[in-house]
Amino acid sequence: MKKNILSLVALAIIAVSCSTSQKATKVADVVVYKNSITPAELSKHLYIVADDNMEGRNTGEPGQKRAGEYLINEYKKNGISFPPGATDFYQKVPSEFMKRGFAPKLNDSENIWTFIEGSEKPQEIIVISAHYDHVGMKNGEVFNGADDDGSGTVALLEIAQAFKKAKDDGFGPKRSILFLHVTGEEHGLHGSRFYSENPLFPIENTVVDINIDMIRRRDTLHPKTNNYVYVIGSDRLSSELHTITEEVNAKYTQLELDYKYNDRKDPERIYFRSDHYNFAKKGIPAIFFFNGIHADYHLSSDTPDKIEYDALAKRTQLAFVLAWELANRPERIKVDRDGK
Ligand SMILES: [Zn+2]
Repeated sequence: MKKNILSLVALAIIAVSCSTSQKATKVADVVVYKNSITPAELSKHLYIVADDNMEGRNTGEPGQKRAGEYLINEYKKNGISFPPGATDFYQKVPSEFMKRGFAPKLNDSENIWTFIEGSEKPQEIIVISAHYDHVGMKNGEVFNGADDDGSGTVALLEIAQAFKKAKDDGFGPKRSILFLHVTGEEHGLHGSRFYSENPLFPIENTVVDINIDMIRRRDTLHPKTNNYVYVIGSDRLSSELHTITEEVNAKYTQLELDYKYNDRKDPERIYFRSDHYNFAKKGIPAIFFFNGIHADYHLSSDTPDKIEYDALAKRTQLAFVLAWELANRPERIKVDRDGK
């Protein structure tokens, strides 16, 4: 309650300052932009990205490319372009790079990148990543991958839109933000590994990777509520990343942060199983948001009609407020841990 009243007051101040004086300094209210991320918007995108027409978005296949075109068009509609130094929205990931043992050869594929330039420290980069590939089709059946990782894919779209809205209002992030839709995750984290070995911006200028992979469901360990998210990796390289995540969550989203899979002895080894790990390997502080394994995991039943869009919105909002804080705080977060 209190926070809502405060934000209304802040809005009123902005409104007054706009109408009465050209010189008055406006104050950015992160809550306004956080609230632009809604279950309805996320659901609209997810029904398209995880539609049968995308044929399960298998790496290098036409269905994945169609999903990629949808994403790019959405960015264009919002006036968000590819990063400086790139010639288009794609970072090509060659088939050869993704070759692994006796596994069937994958076709050439692409990471997709978009960018919002920082106003004060544009050379410092916040990466927000999610994989847009899934496992394709088996015996004519589409594996829609609505949660894995349609959820992270559409989260990136909405986070980018919220930052753009803020920028258009004069509150652009101080550091730059790279939105990275990586490919080839399901076949071995290929796209993120390719980016980390062929980065567009120097690794030493890359402040953090916020990775989102599966955030719109609940697992069997949380039967009564979806108001939680697993947080993995936040304390391995930067103690600040960990504390800041807790602070912004307490202030803006009030999710239960569950560290079960951050246990160094986690038998599932979740920490090593998504794209943030390729950033952590390079010494970049990385955090991974995840909802846990559920009954539809990697099955054709991972479809967009399964409810819990409220959870998707709230977890997306947490990633957004975290990115906002990391992009705008005076000093970049420091690496003070050894990664273990
Ligand atoms: Zn995944």
